[in-house]
This record gives sequence, C-alpha cells and structure tokens, in this order.
Amino acid sequence: MPRPAPLPAIFKEYEERVYNVRYVSDTEYSSSCPDCAGDDRCRWFLRGSPLGWCRQCNSLFFPTGVRPTKDDLDRWRLDQIEREQQELSKIARTIATLKNSRLWEKYHKEMPDEGIDYWTRRGISPKLQEWWKFGWVDEWLYHCEGKDYVSPTATIPLFGKNYLPMNIKHRLIYPHNPKDKYRLEFSGVKNPLFLTNPRLPLDGEVIAIEGEIKAAVVWANIKDIDRRVVGLPGCNPGKHIVDEFKGADSVVLVMDPGSHDQAKKLVKDLGPARCKVLITPEKIDDAILAGHLLGSDIEGALKMATPGIDLIARAERRI
Ligand SMILES: [Zn+2]
Repeated sequence: MPRPAPLPAIFKEYEERVYNVRYVSDTEYSSSCPDCAGDDRCRWFLRGSPLGWCRQCNSLFFPTGVRPTKDDLDRWRLDQIEREQQELSKIARTIATLKNSRLWEKYHKEMPDEGIDYWTRRGISPKLQEWWKFGWVDEWLYHCEGKDYVSPTATIPLFGKNYLPMNIKHRLIYPHNPKDKYRLEFSGVKNPLFLTNPRLPLDGEVIAIEGEIKAAVVWANIKDIDRRVVGLPGCNPGKHIVDEFKGADSVVLVMDPGSHDQAKKLVKDLGPARCKVLITPEKIDDAILAGHLLGSDIEGALKMATPGIDLIARAERRI
C-alpha cells in the first residue's frame, strides 16, 4: 500500500498495520488505525511524547513506549475538546445541508433498474426500498489508498430520531479494496447508527446488527414493525454509538463470523449484564437469502444468543 516516503520514525512499530499515512502539520499525522482499520481515523501527535489516537475505536498508541507527561495529555485533551466542538458544528452543517437538498430522495427517485435490482437481490423489496429511501448513484468518485476511483454506489440514508437526516452512506459496488466498501456523503463526521424505524425510541430490547444492510434484511424478515433493530457501522463502532444505547434495557448483538474479539470489546462497553451475543456462522443476510435461516426462525436464533457475561468469562478462560 502506498506510504509517504520515508515513513516517519514514529510509525516504525506500526509499519505493517497502518496505511493512508498523511502529513497534517509539523506536529501531526493522520493514518488508518492499527487496531480497527478505520481508514483515516487515527491521529498522531508529535509534541512531547508522541501519542496516537483513533477517533473510531478510541484506542491510544504510544509509539515510543513512553507514556505522555501530564502536560502532554492535558494539551492533547484540550485539542480533543476543540475537535469535538468542530465536529458538532460540522454535524449541524451536514444536517442543514441534507435537509435543504433532500439528496436521499433524489438518489431514491432517480434510481435506475440496475439499482432496484441490486437492492432486490440483497433482500430488500421495492416496497422496502421506498420505505427506507434506499437509492443509487451511477458514478461516485471516491478516494482509496491515496488514489481516486469511480464506482456506482447503493445509497442508504441514515436518520436520527424522528427522521432527522444525519448522513447518507454509499456502498461502493466496485470497491478498489473489497475490505473498504463504504463512504459517507459528508465525510469527516462519525458514522451514525442505522435505525430501521426512526420513529421508535431505543428502549426495551434492541437488536444491534453489524452493518446497515444486514439490519434491514433482518428487520424485513422479522416482520414486526415495533421491533427495535439497528445497524451498527462496522464491528468497532466507537463510543458515540455505545452512547445511543443508554435507554435500552437489553441489547442483542448480531455479529459476523470471526468477530469474537470485537464482540467482547463491544459487550464490555455496553455492559455485559444487559447484552447477549449471536455470532452467526455465516453473514446473517446471506443466511436468510440462501434460505439457511428462515424469517420465522430469526426470533428463535436470537433467543439462543450467548449472555454477555458468559462470553466474557469464556474469553478470560481462554487466555
Ligand atoms: Zn481504531
């Protein structure tokens, strides 16, 4: 993967785990995250003892092995507060722009047959495409690993409570890197949750599924409009997402095969006592589409989810 040459010395230890290393200023770099592979989510601060911080998974990195001094940490925290304020005003601007442009409606209304077919093949009927205003863009310019590419995208509008438009997610149809398939219409803000029914508060039992499309497919097959089903933006969704579950009595996490470590972290963040975890043997939307999991069996499968406390206990025993 392309890296600026020479790679700054602080990346030595992370050489094989970071890409997208970019110069921000003489005291700051950005890069992908060594932990969660967030594409450009990690910031590296070089003043005092160098410190790396991922805005997506909140991991901290100390490249020289030296813990920062109190002064460094204080300065860094102030920096973060400033950044958070900037992010809040950026979110407000994003919402205002979206409200005015109603771009998601354009993407939905102008969707060609190719888009309707794509969504139908993914398990979302035309009626539900209309309900979620899923759409299509023929040519979307995106950046990946230092270069620009073009691909059609399938679009997913993301609404907050009461249909407040938060952003639009683009699923690249021909991603340059198959592991890097999603882009936001307005970048530089955190990925919001996908709410299958934005009219409902997230209380009682919430089913949280890794990925928006999977959440949509599950909700479509449960056929209960009052069921709280949400799509997590990836398996390391970050603190702002965890905060969204404040009002939930219990959370059933549905995650992709091989995501034990991420599930464990998420369970710890959400509170193990109210969590259950179902790590499916194949991606849940694929299982439903292939007929391996019938709509009527989904509730049964959810009931078999492992209690969070057991998952943590099992993981500790393994160590
Ligand atoms: Zn990260």
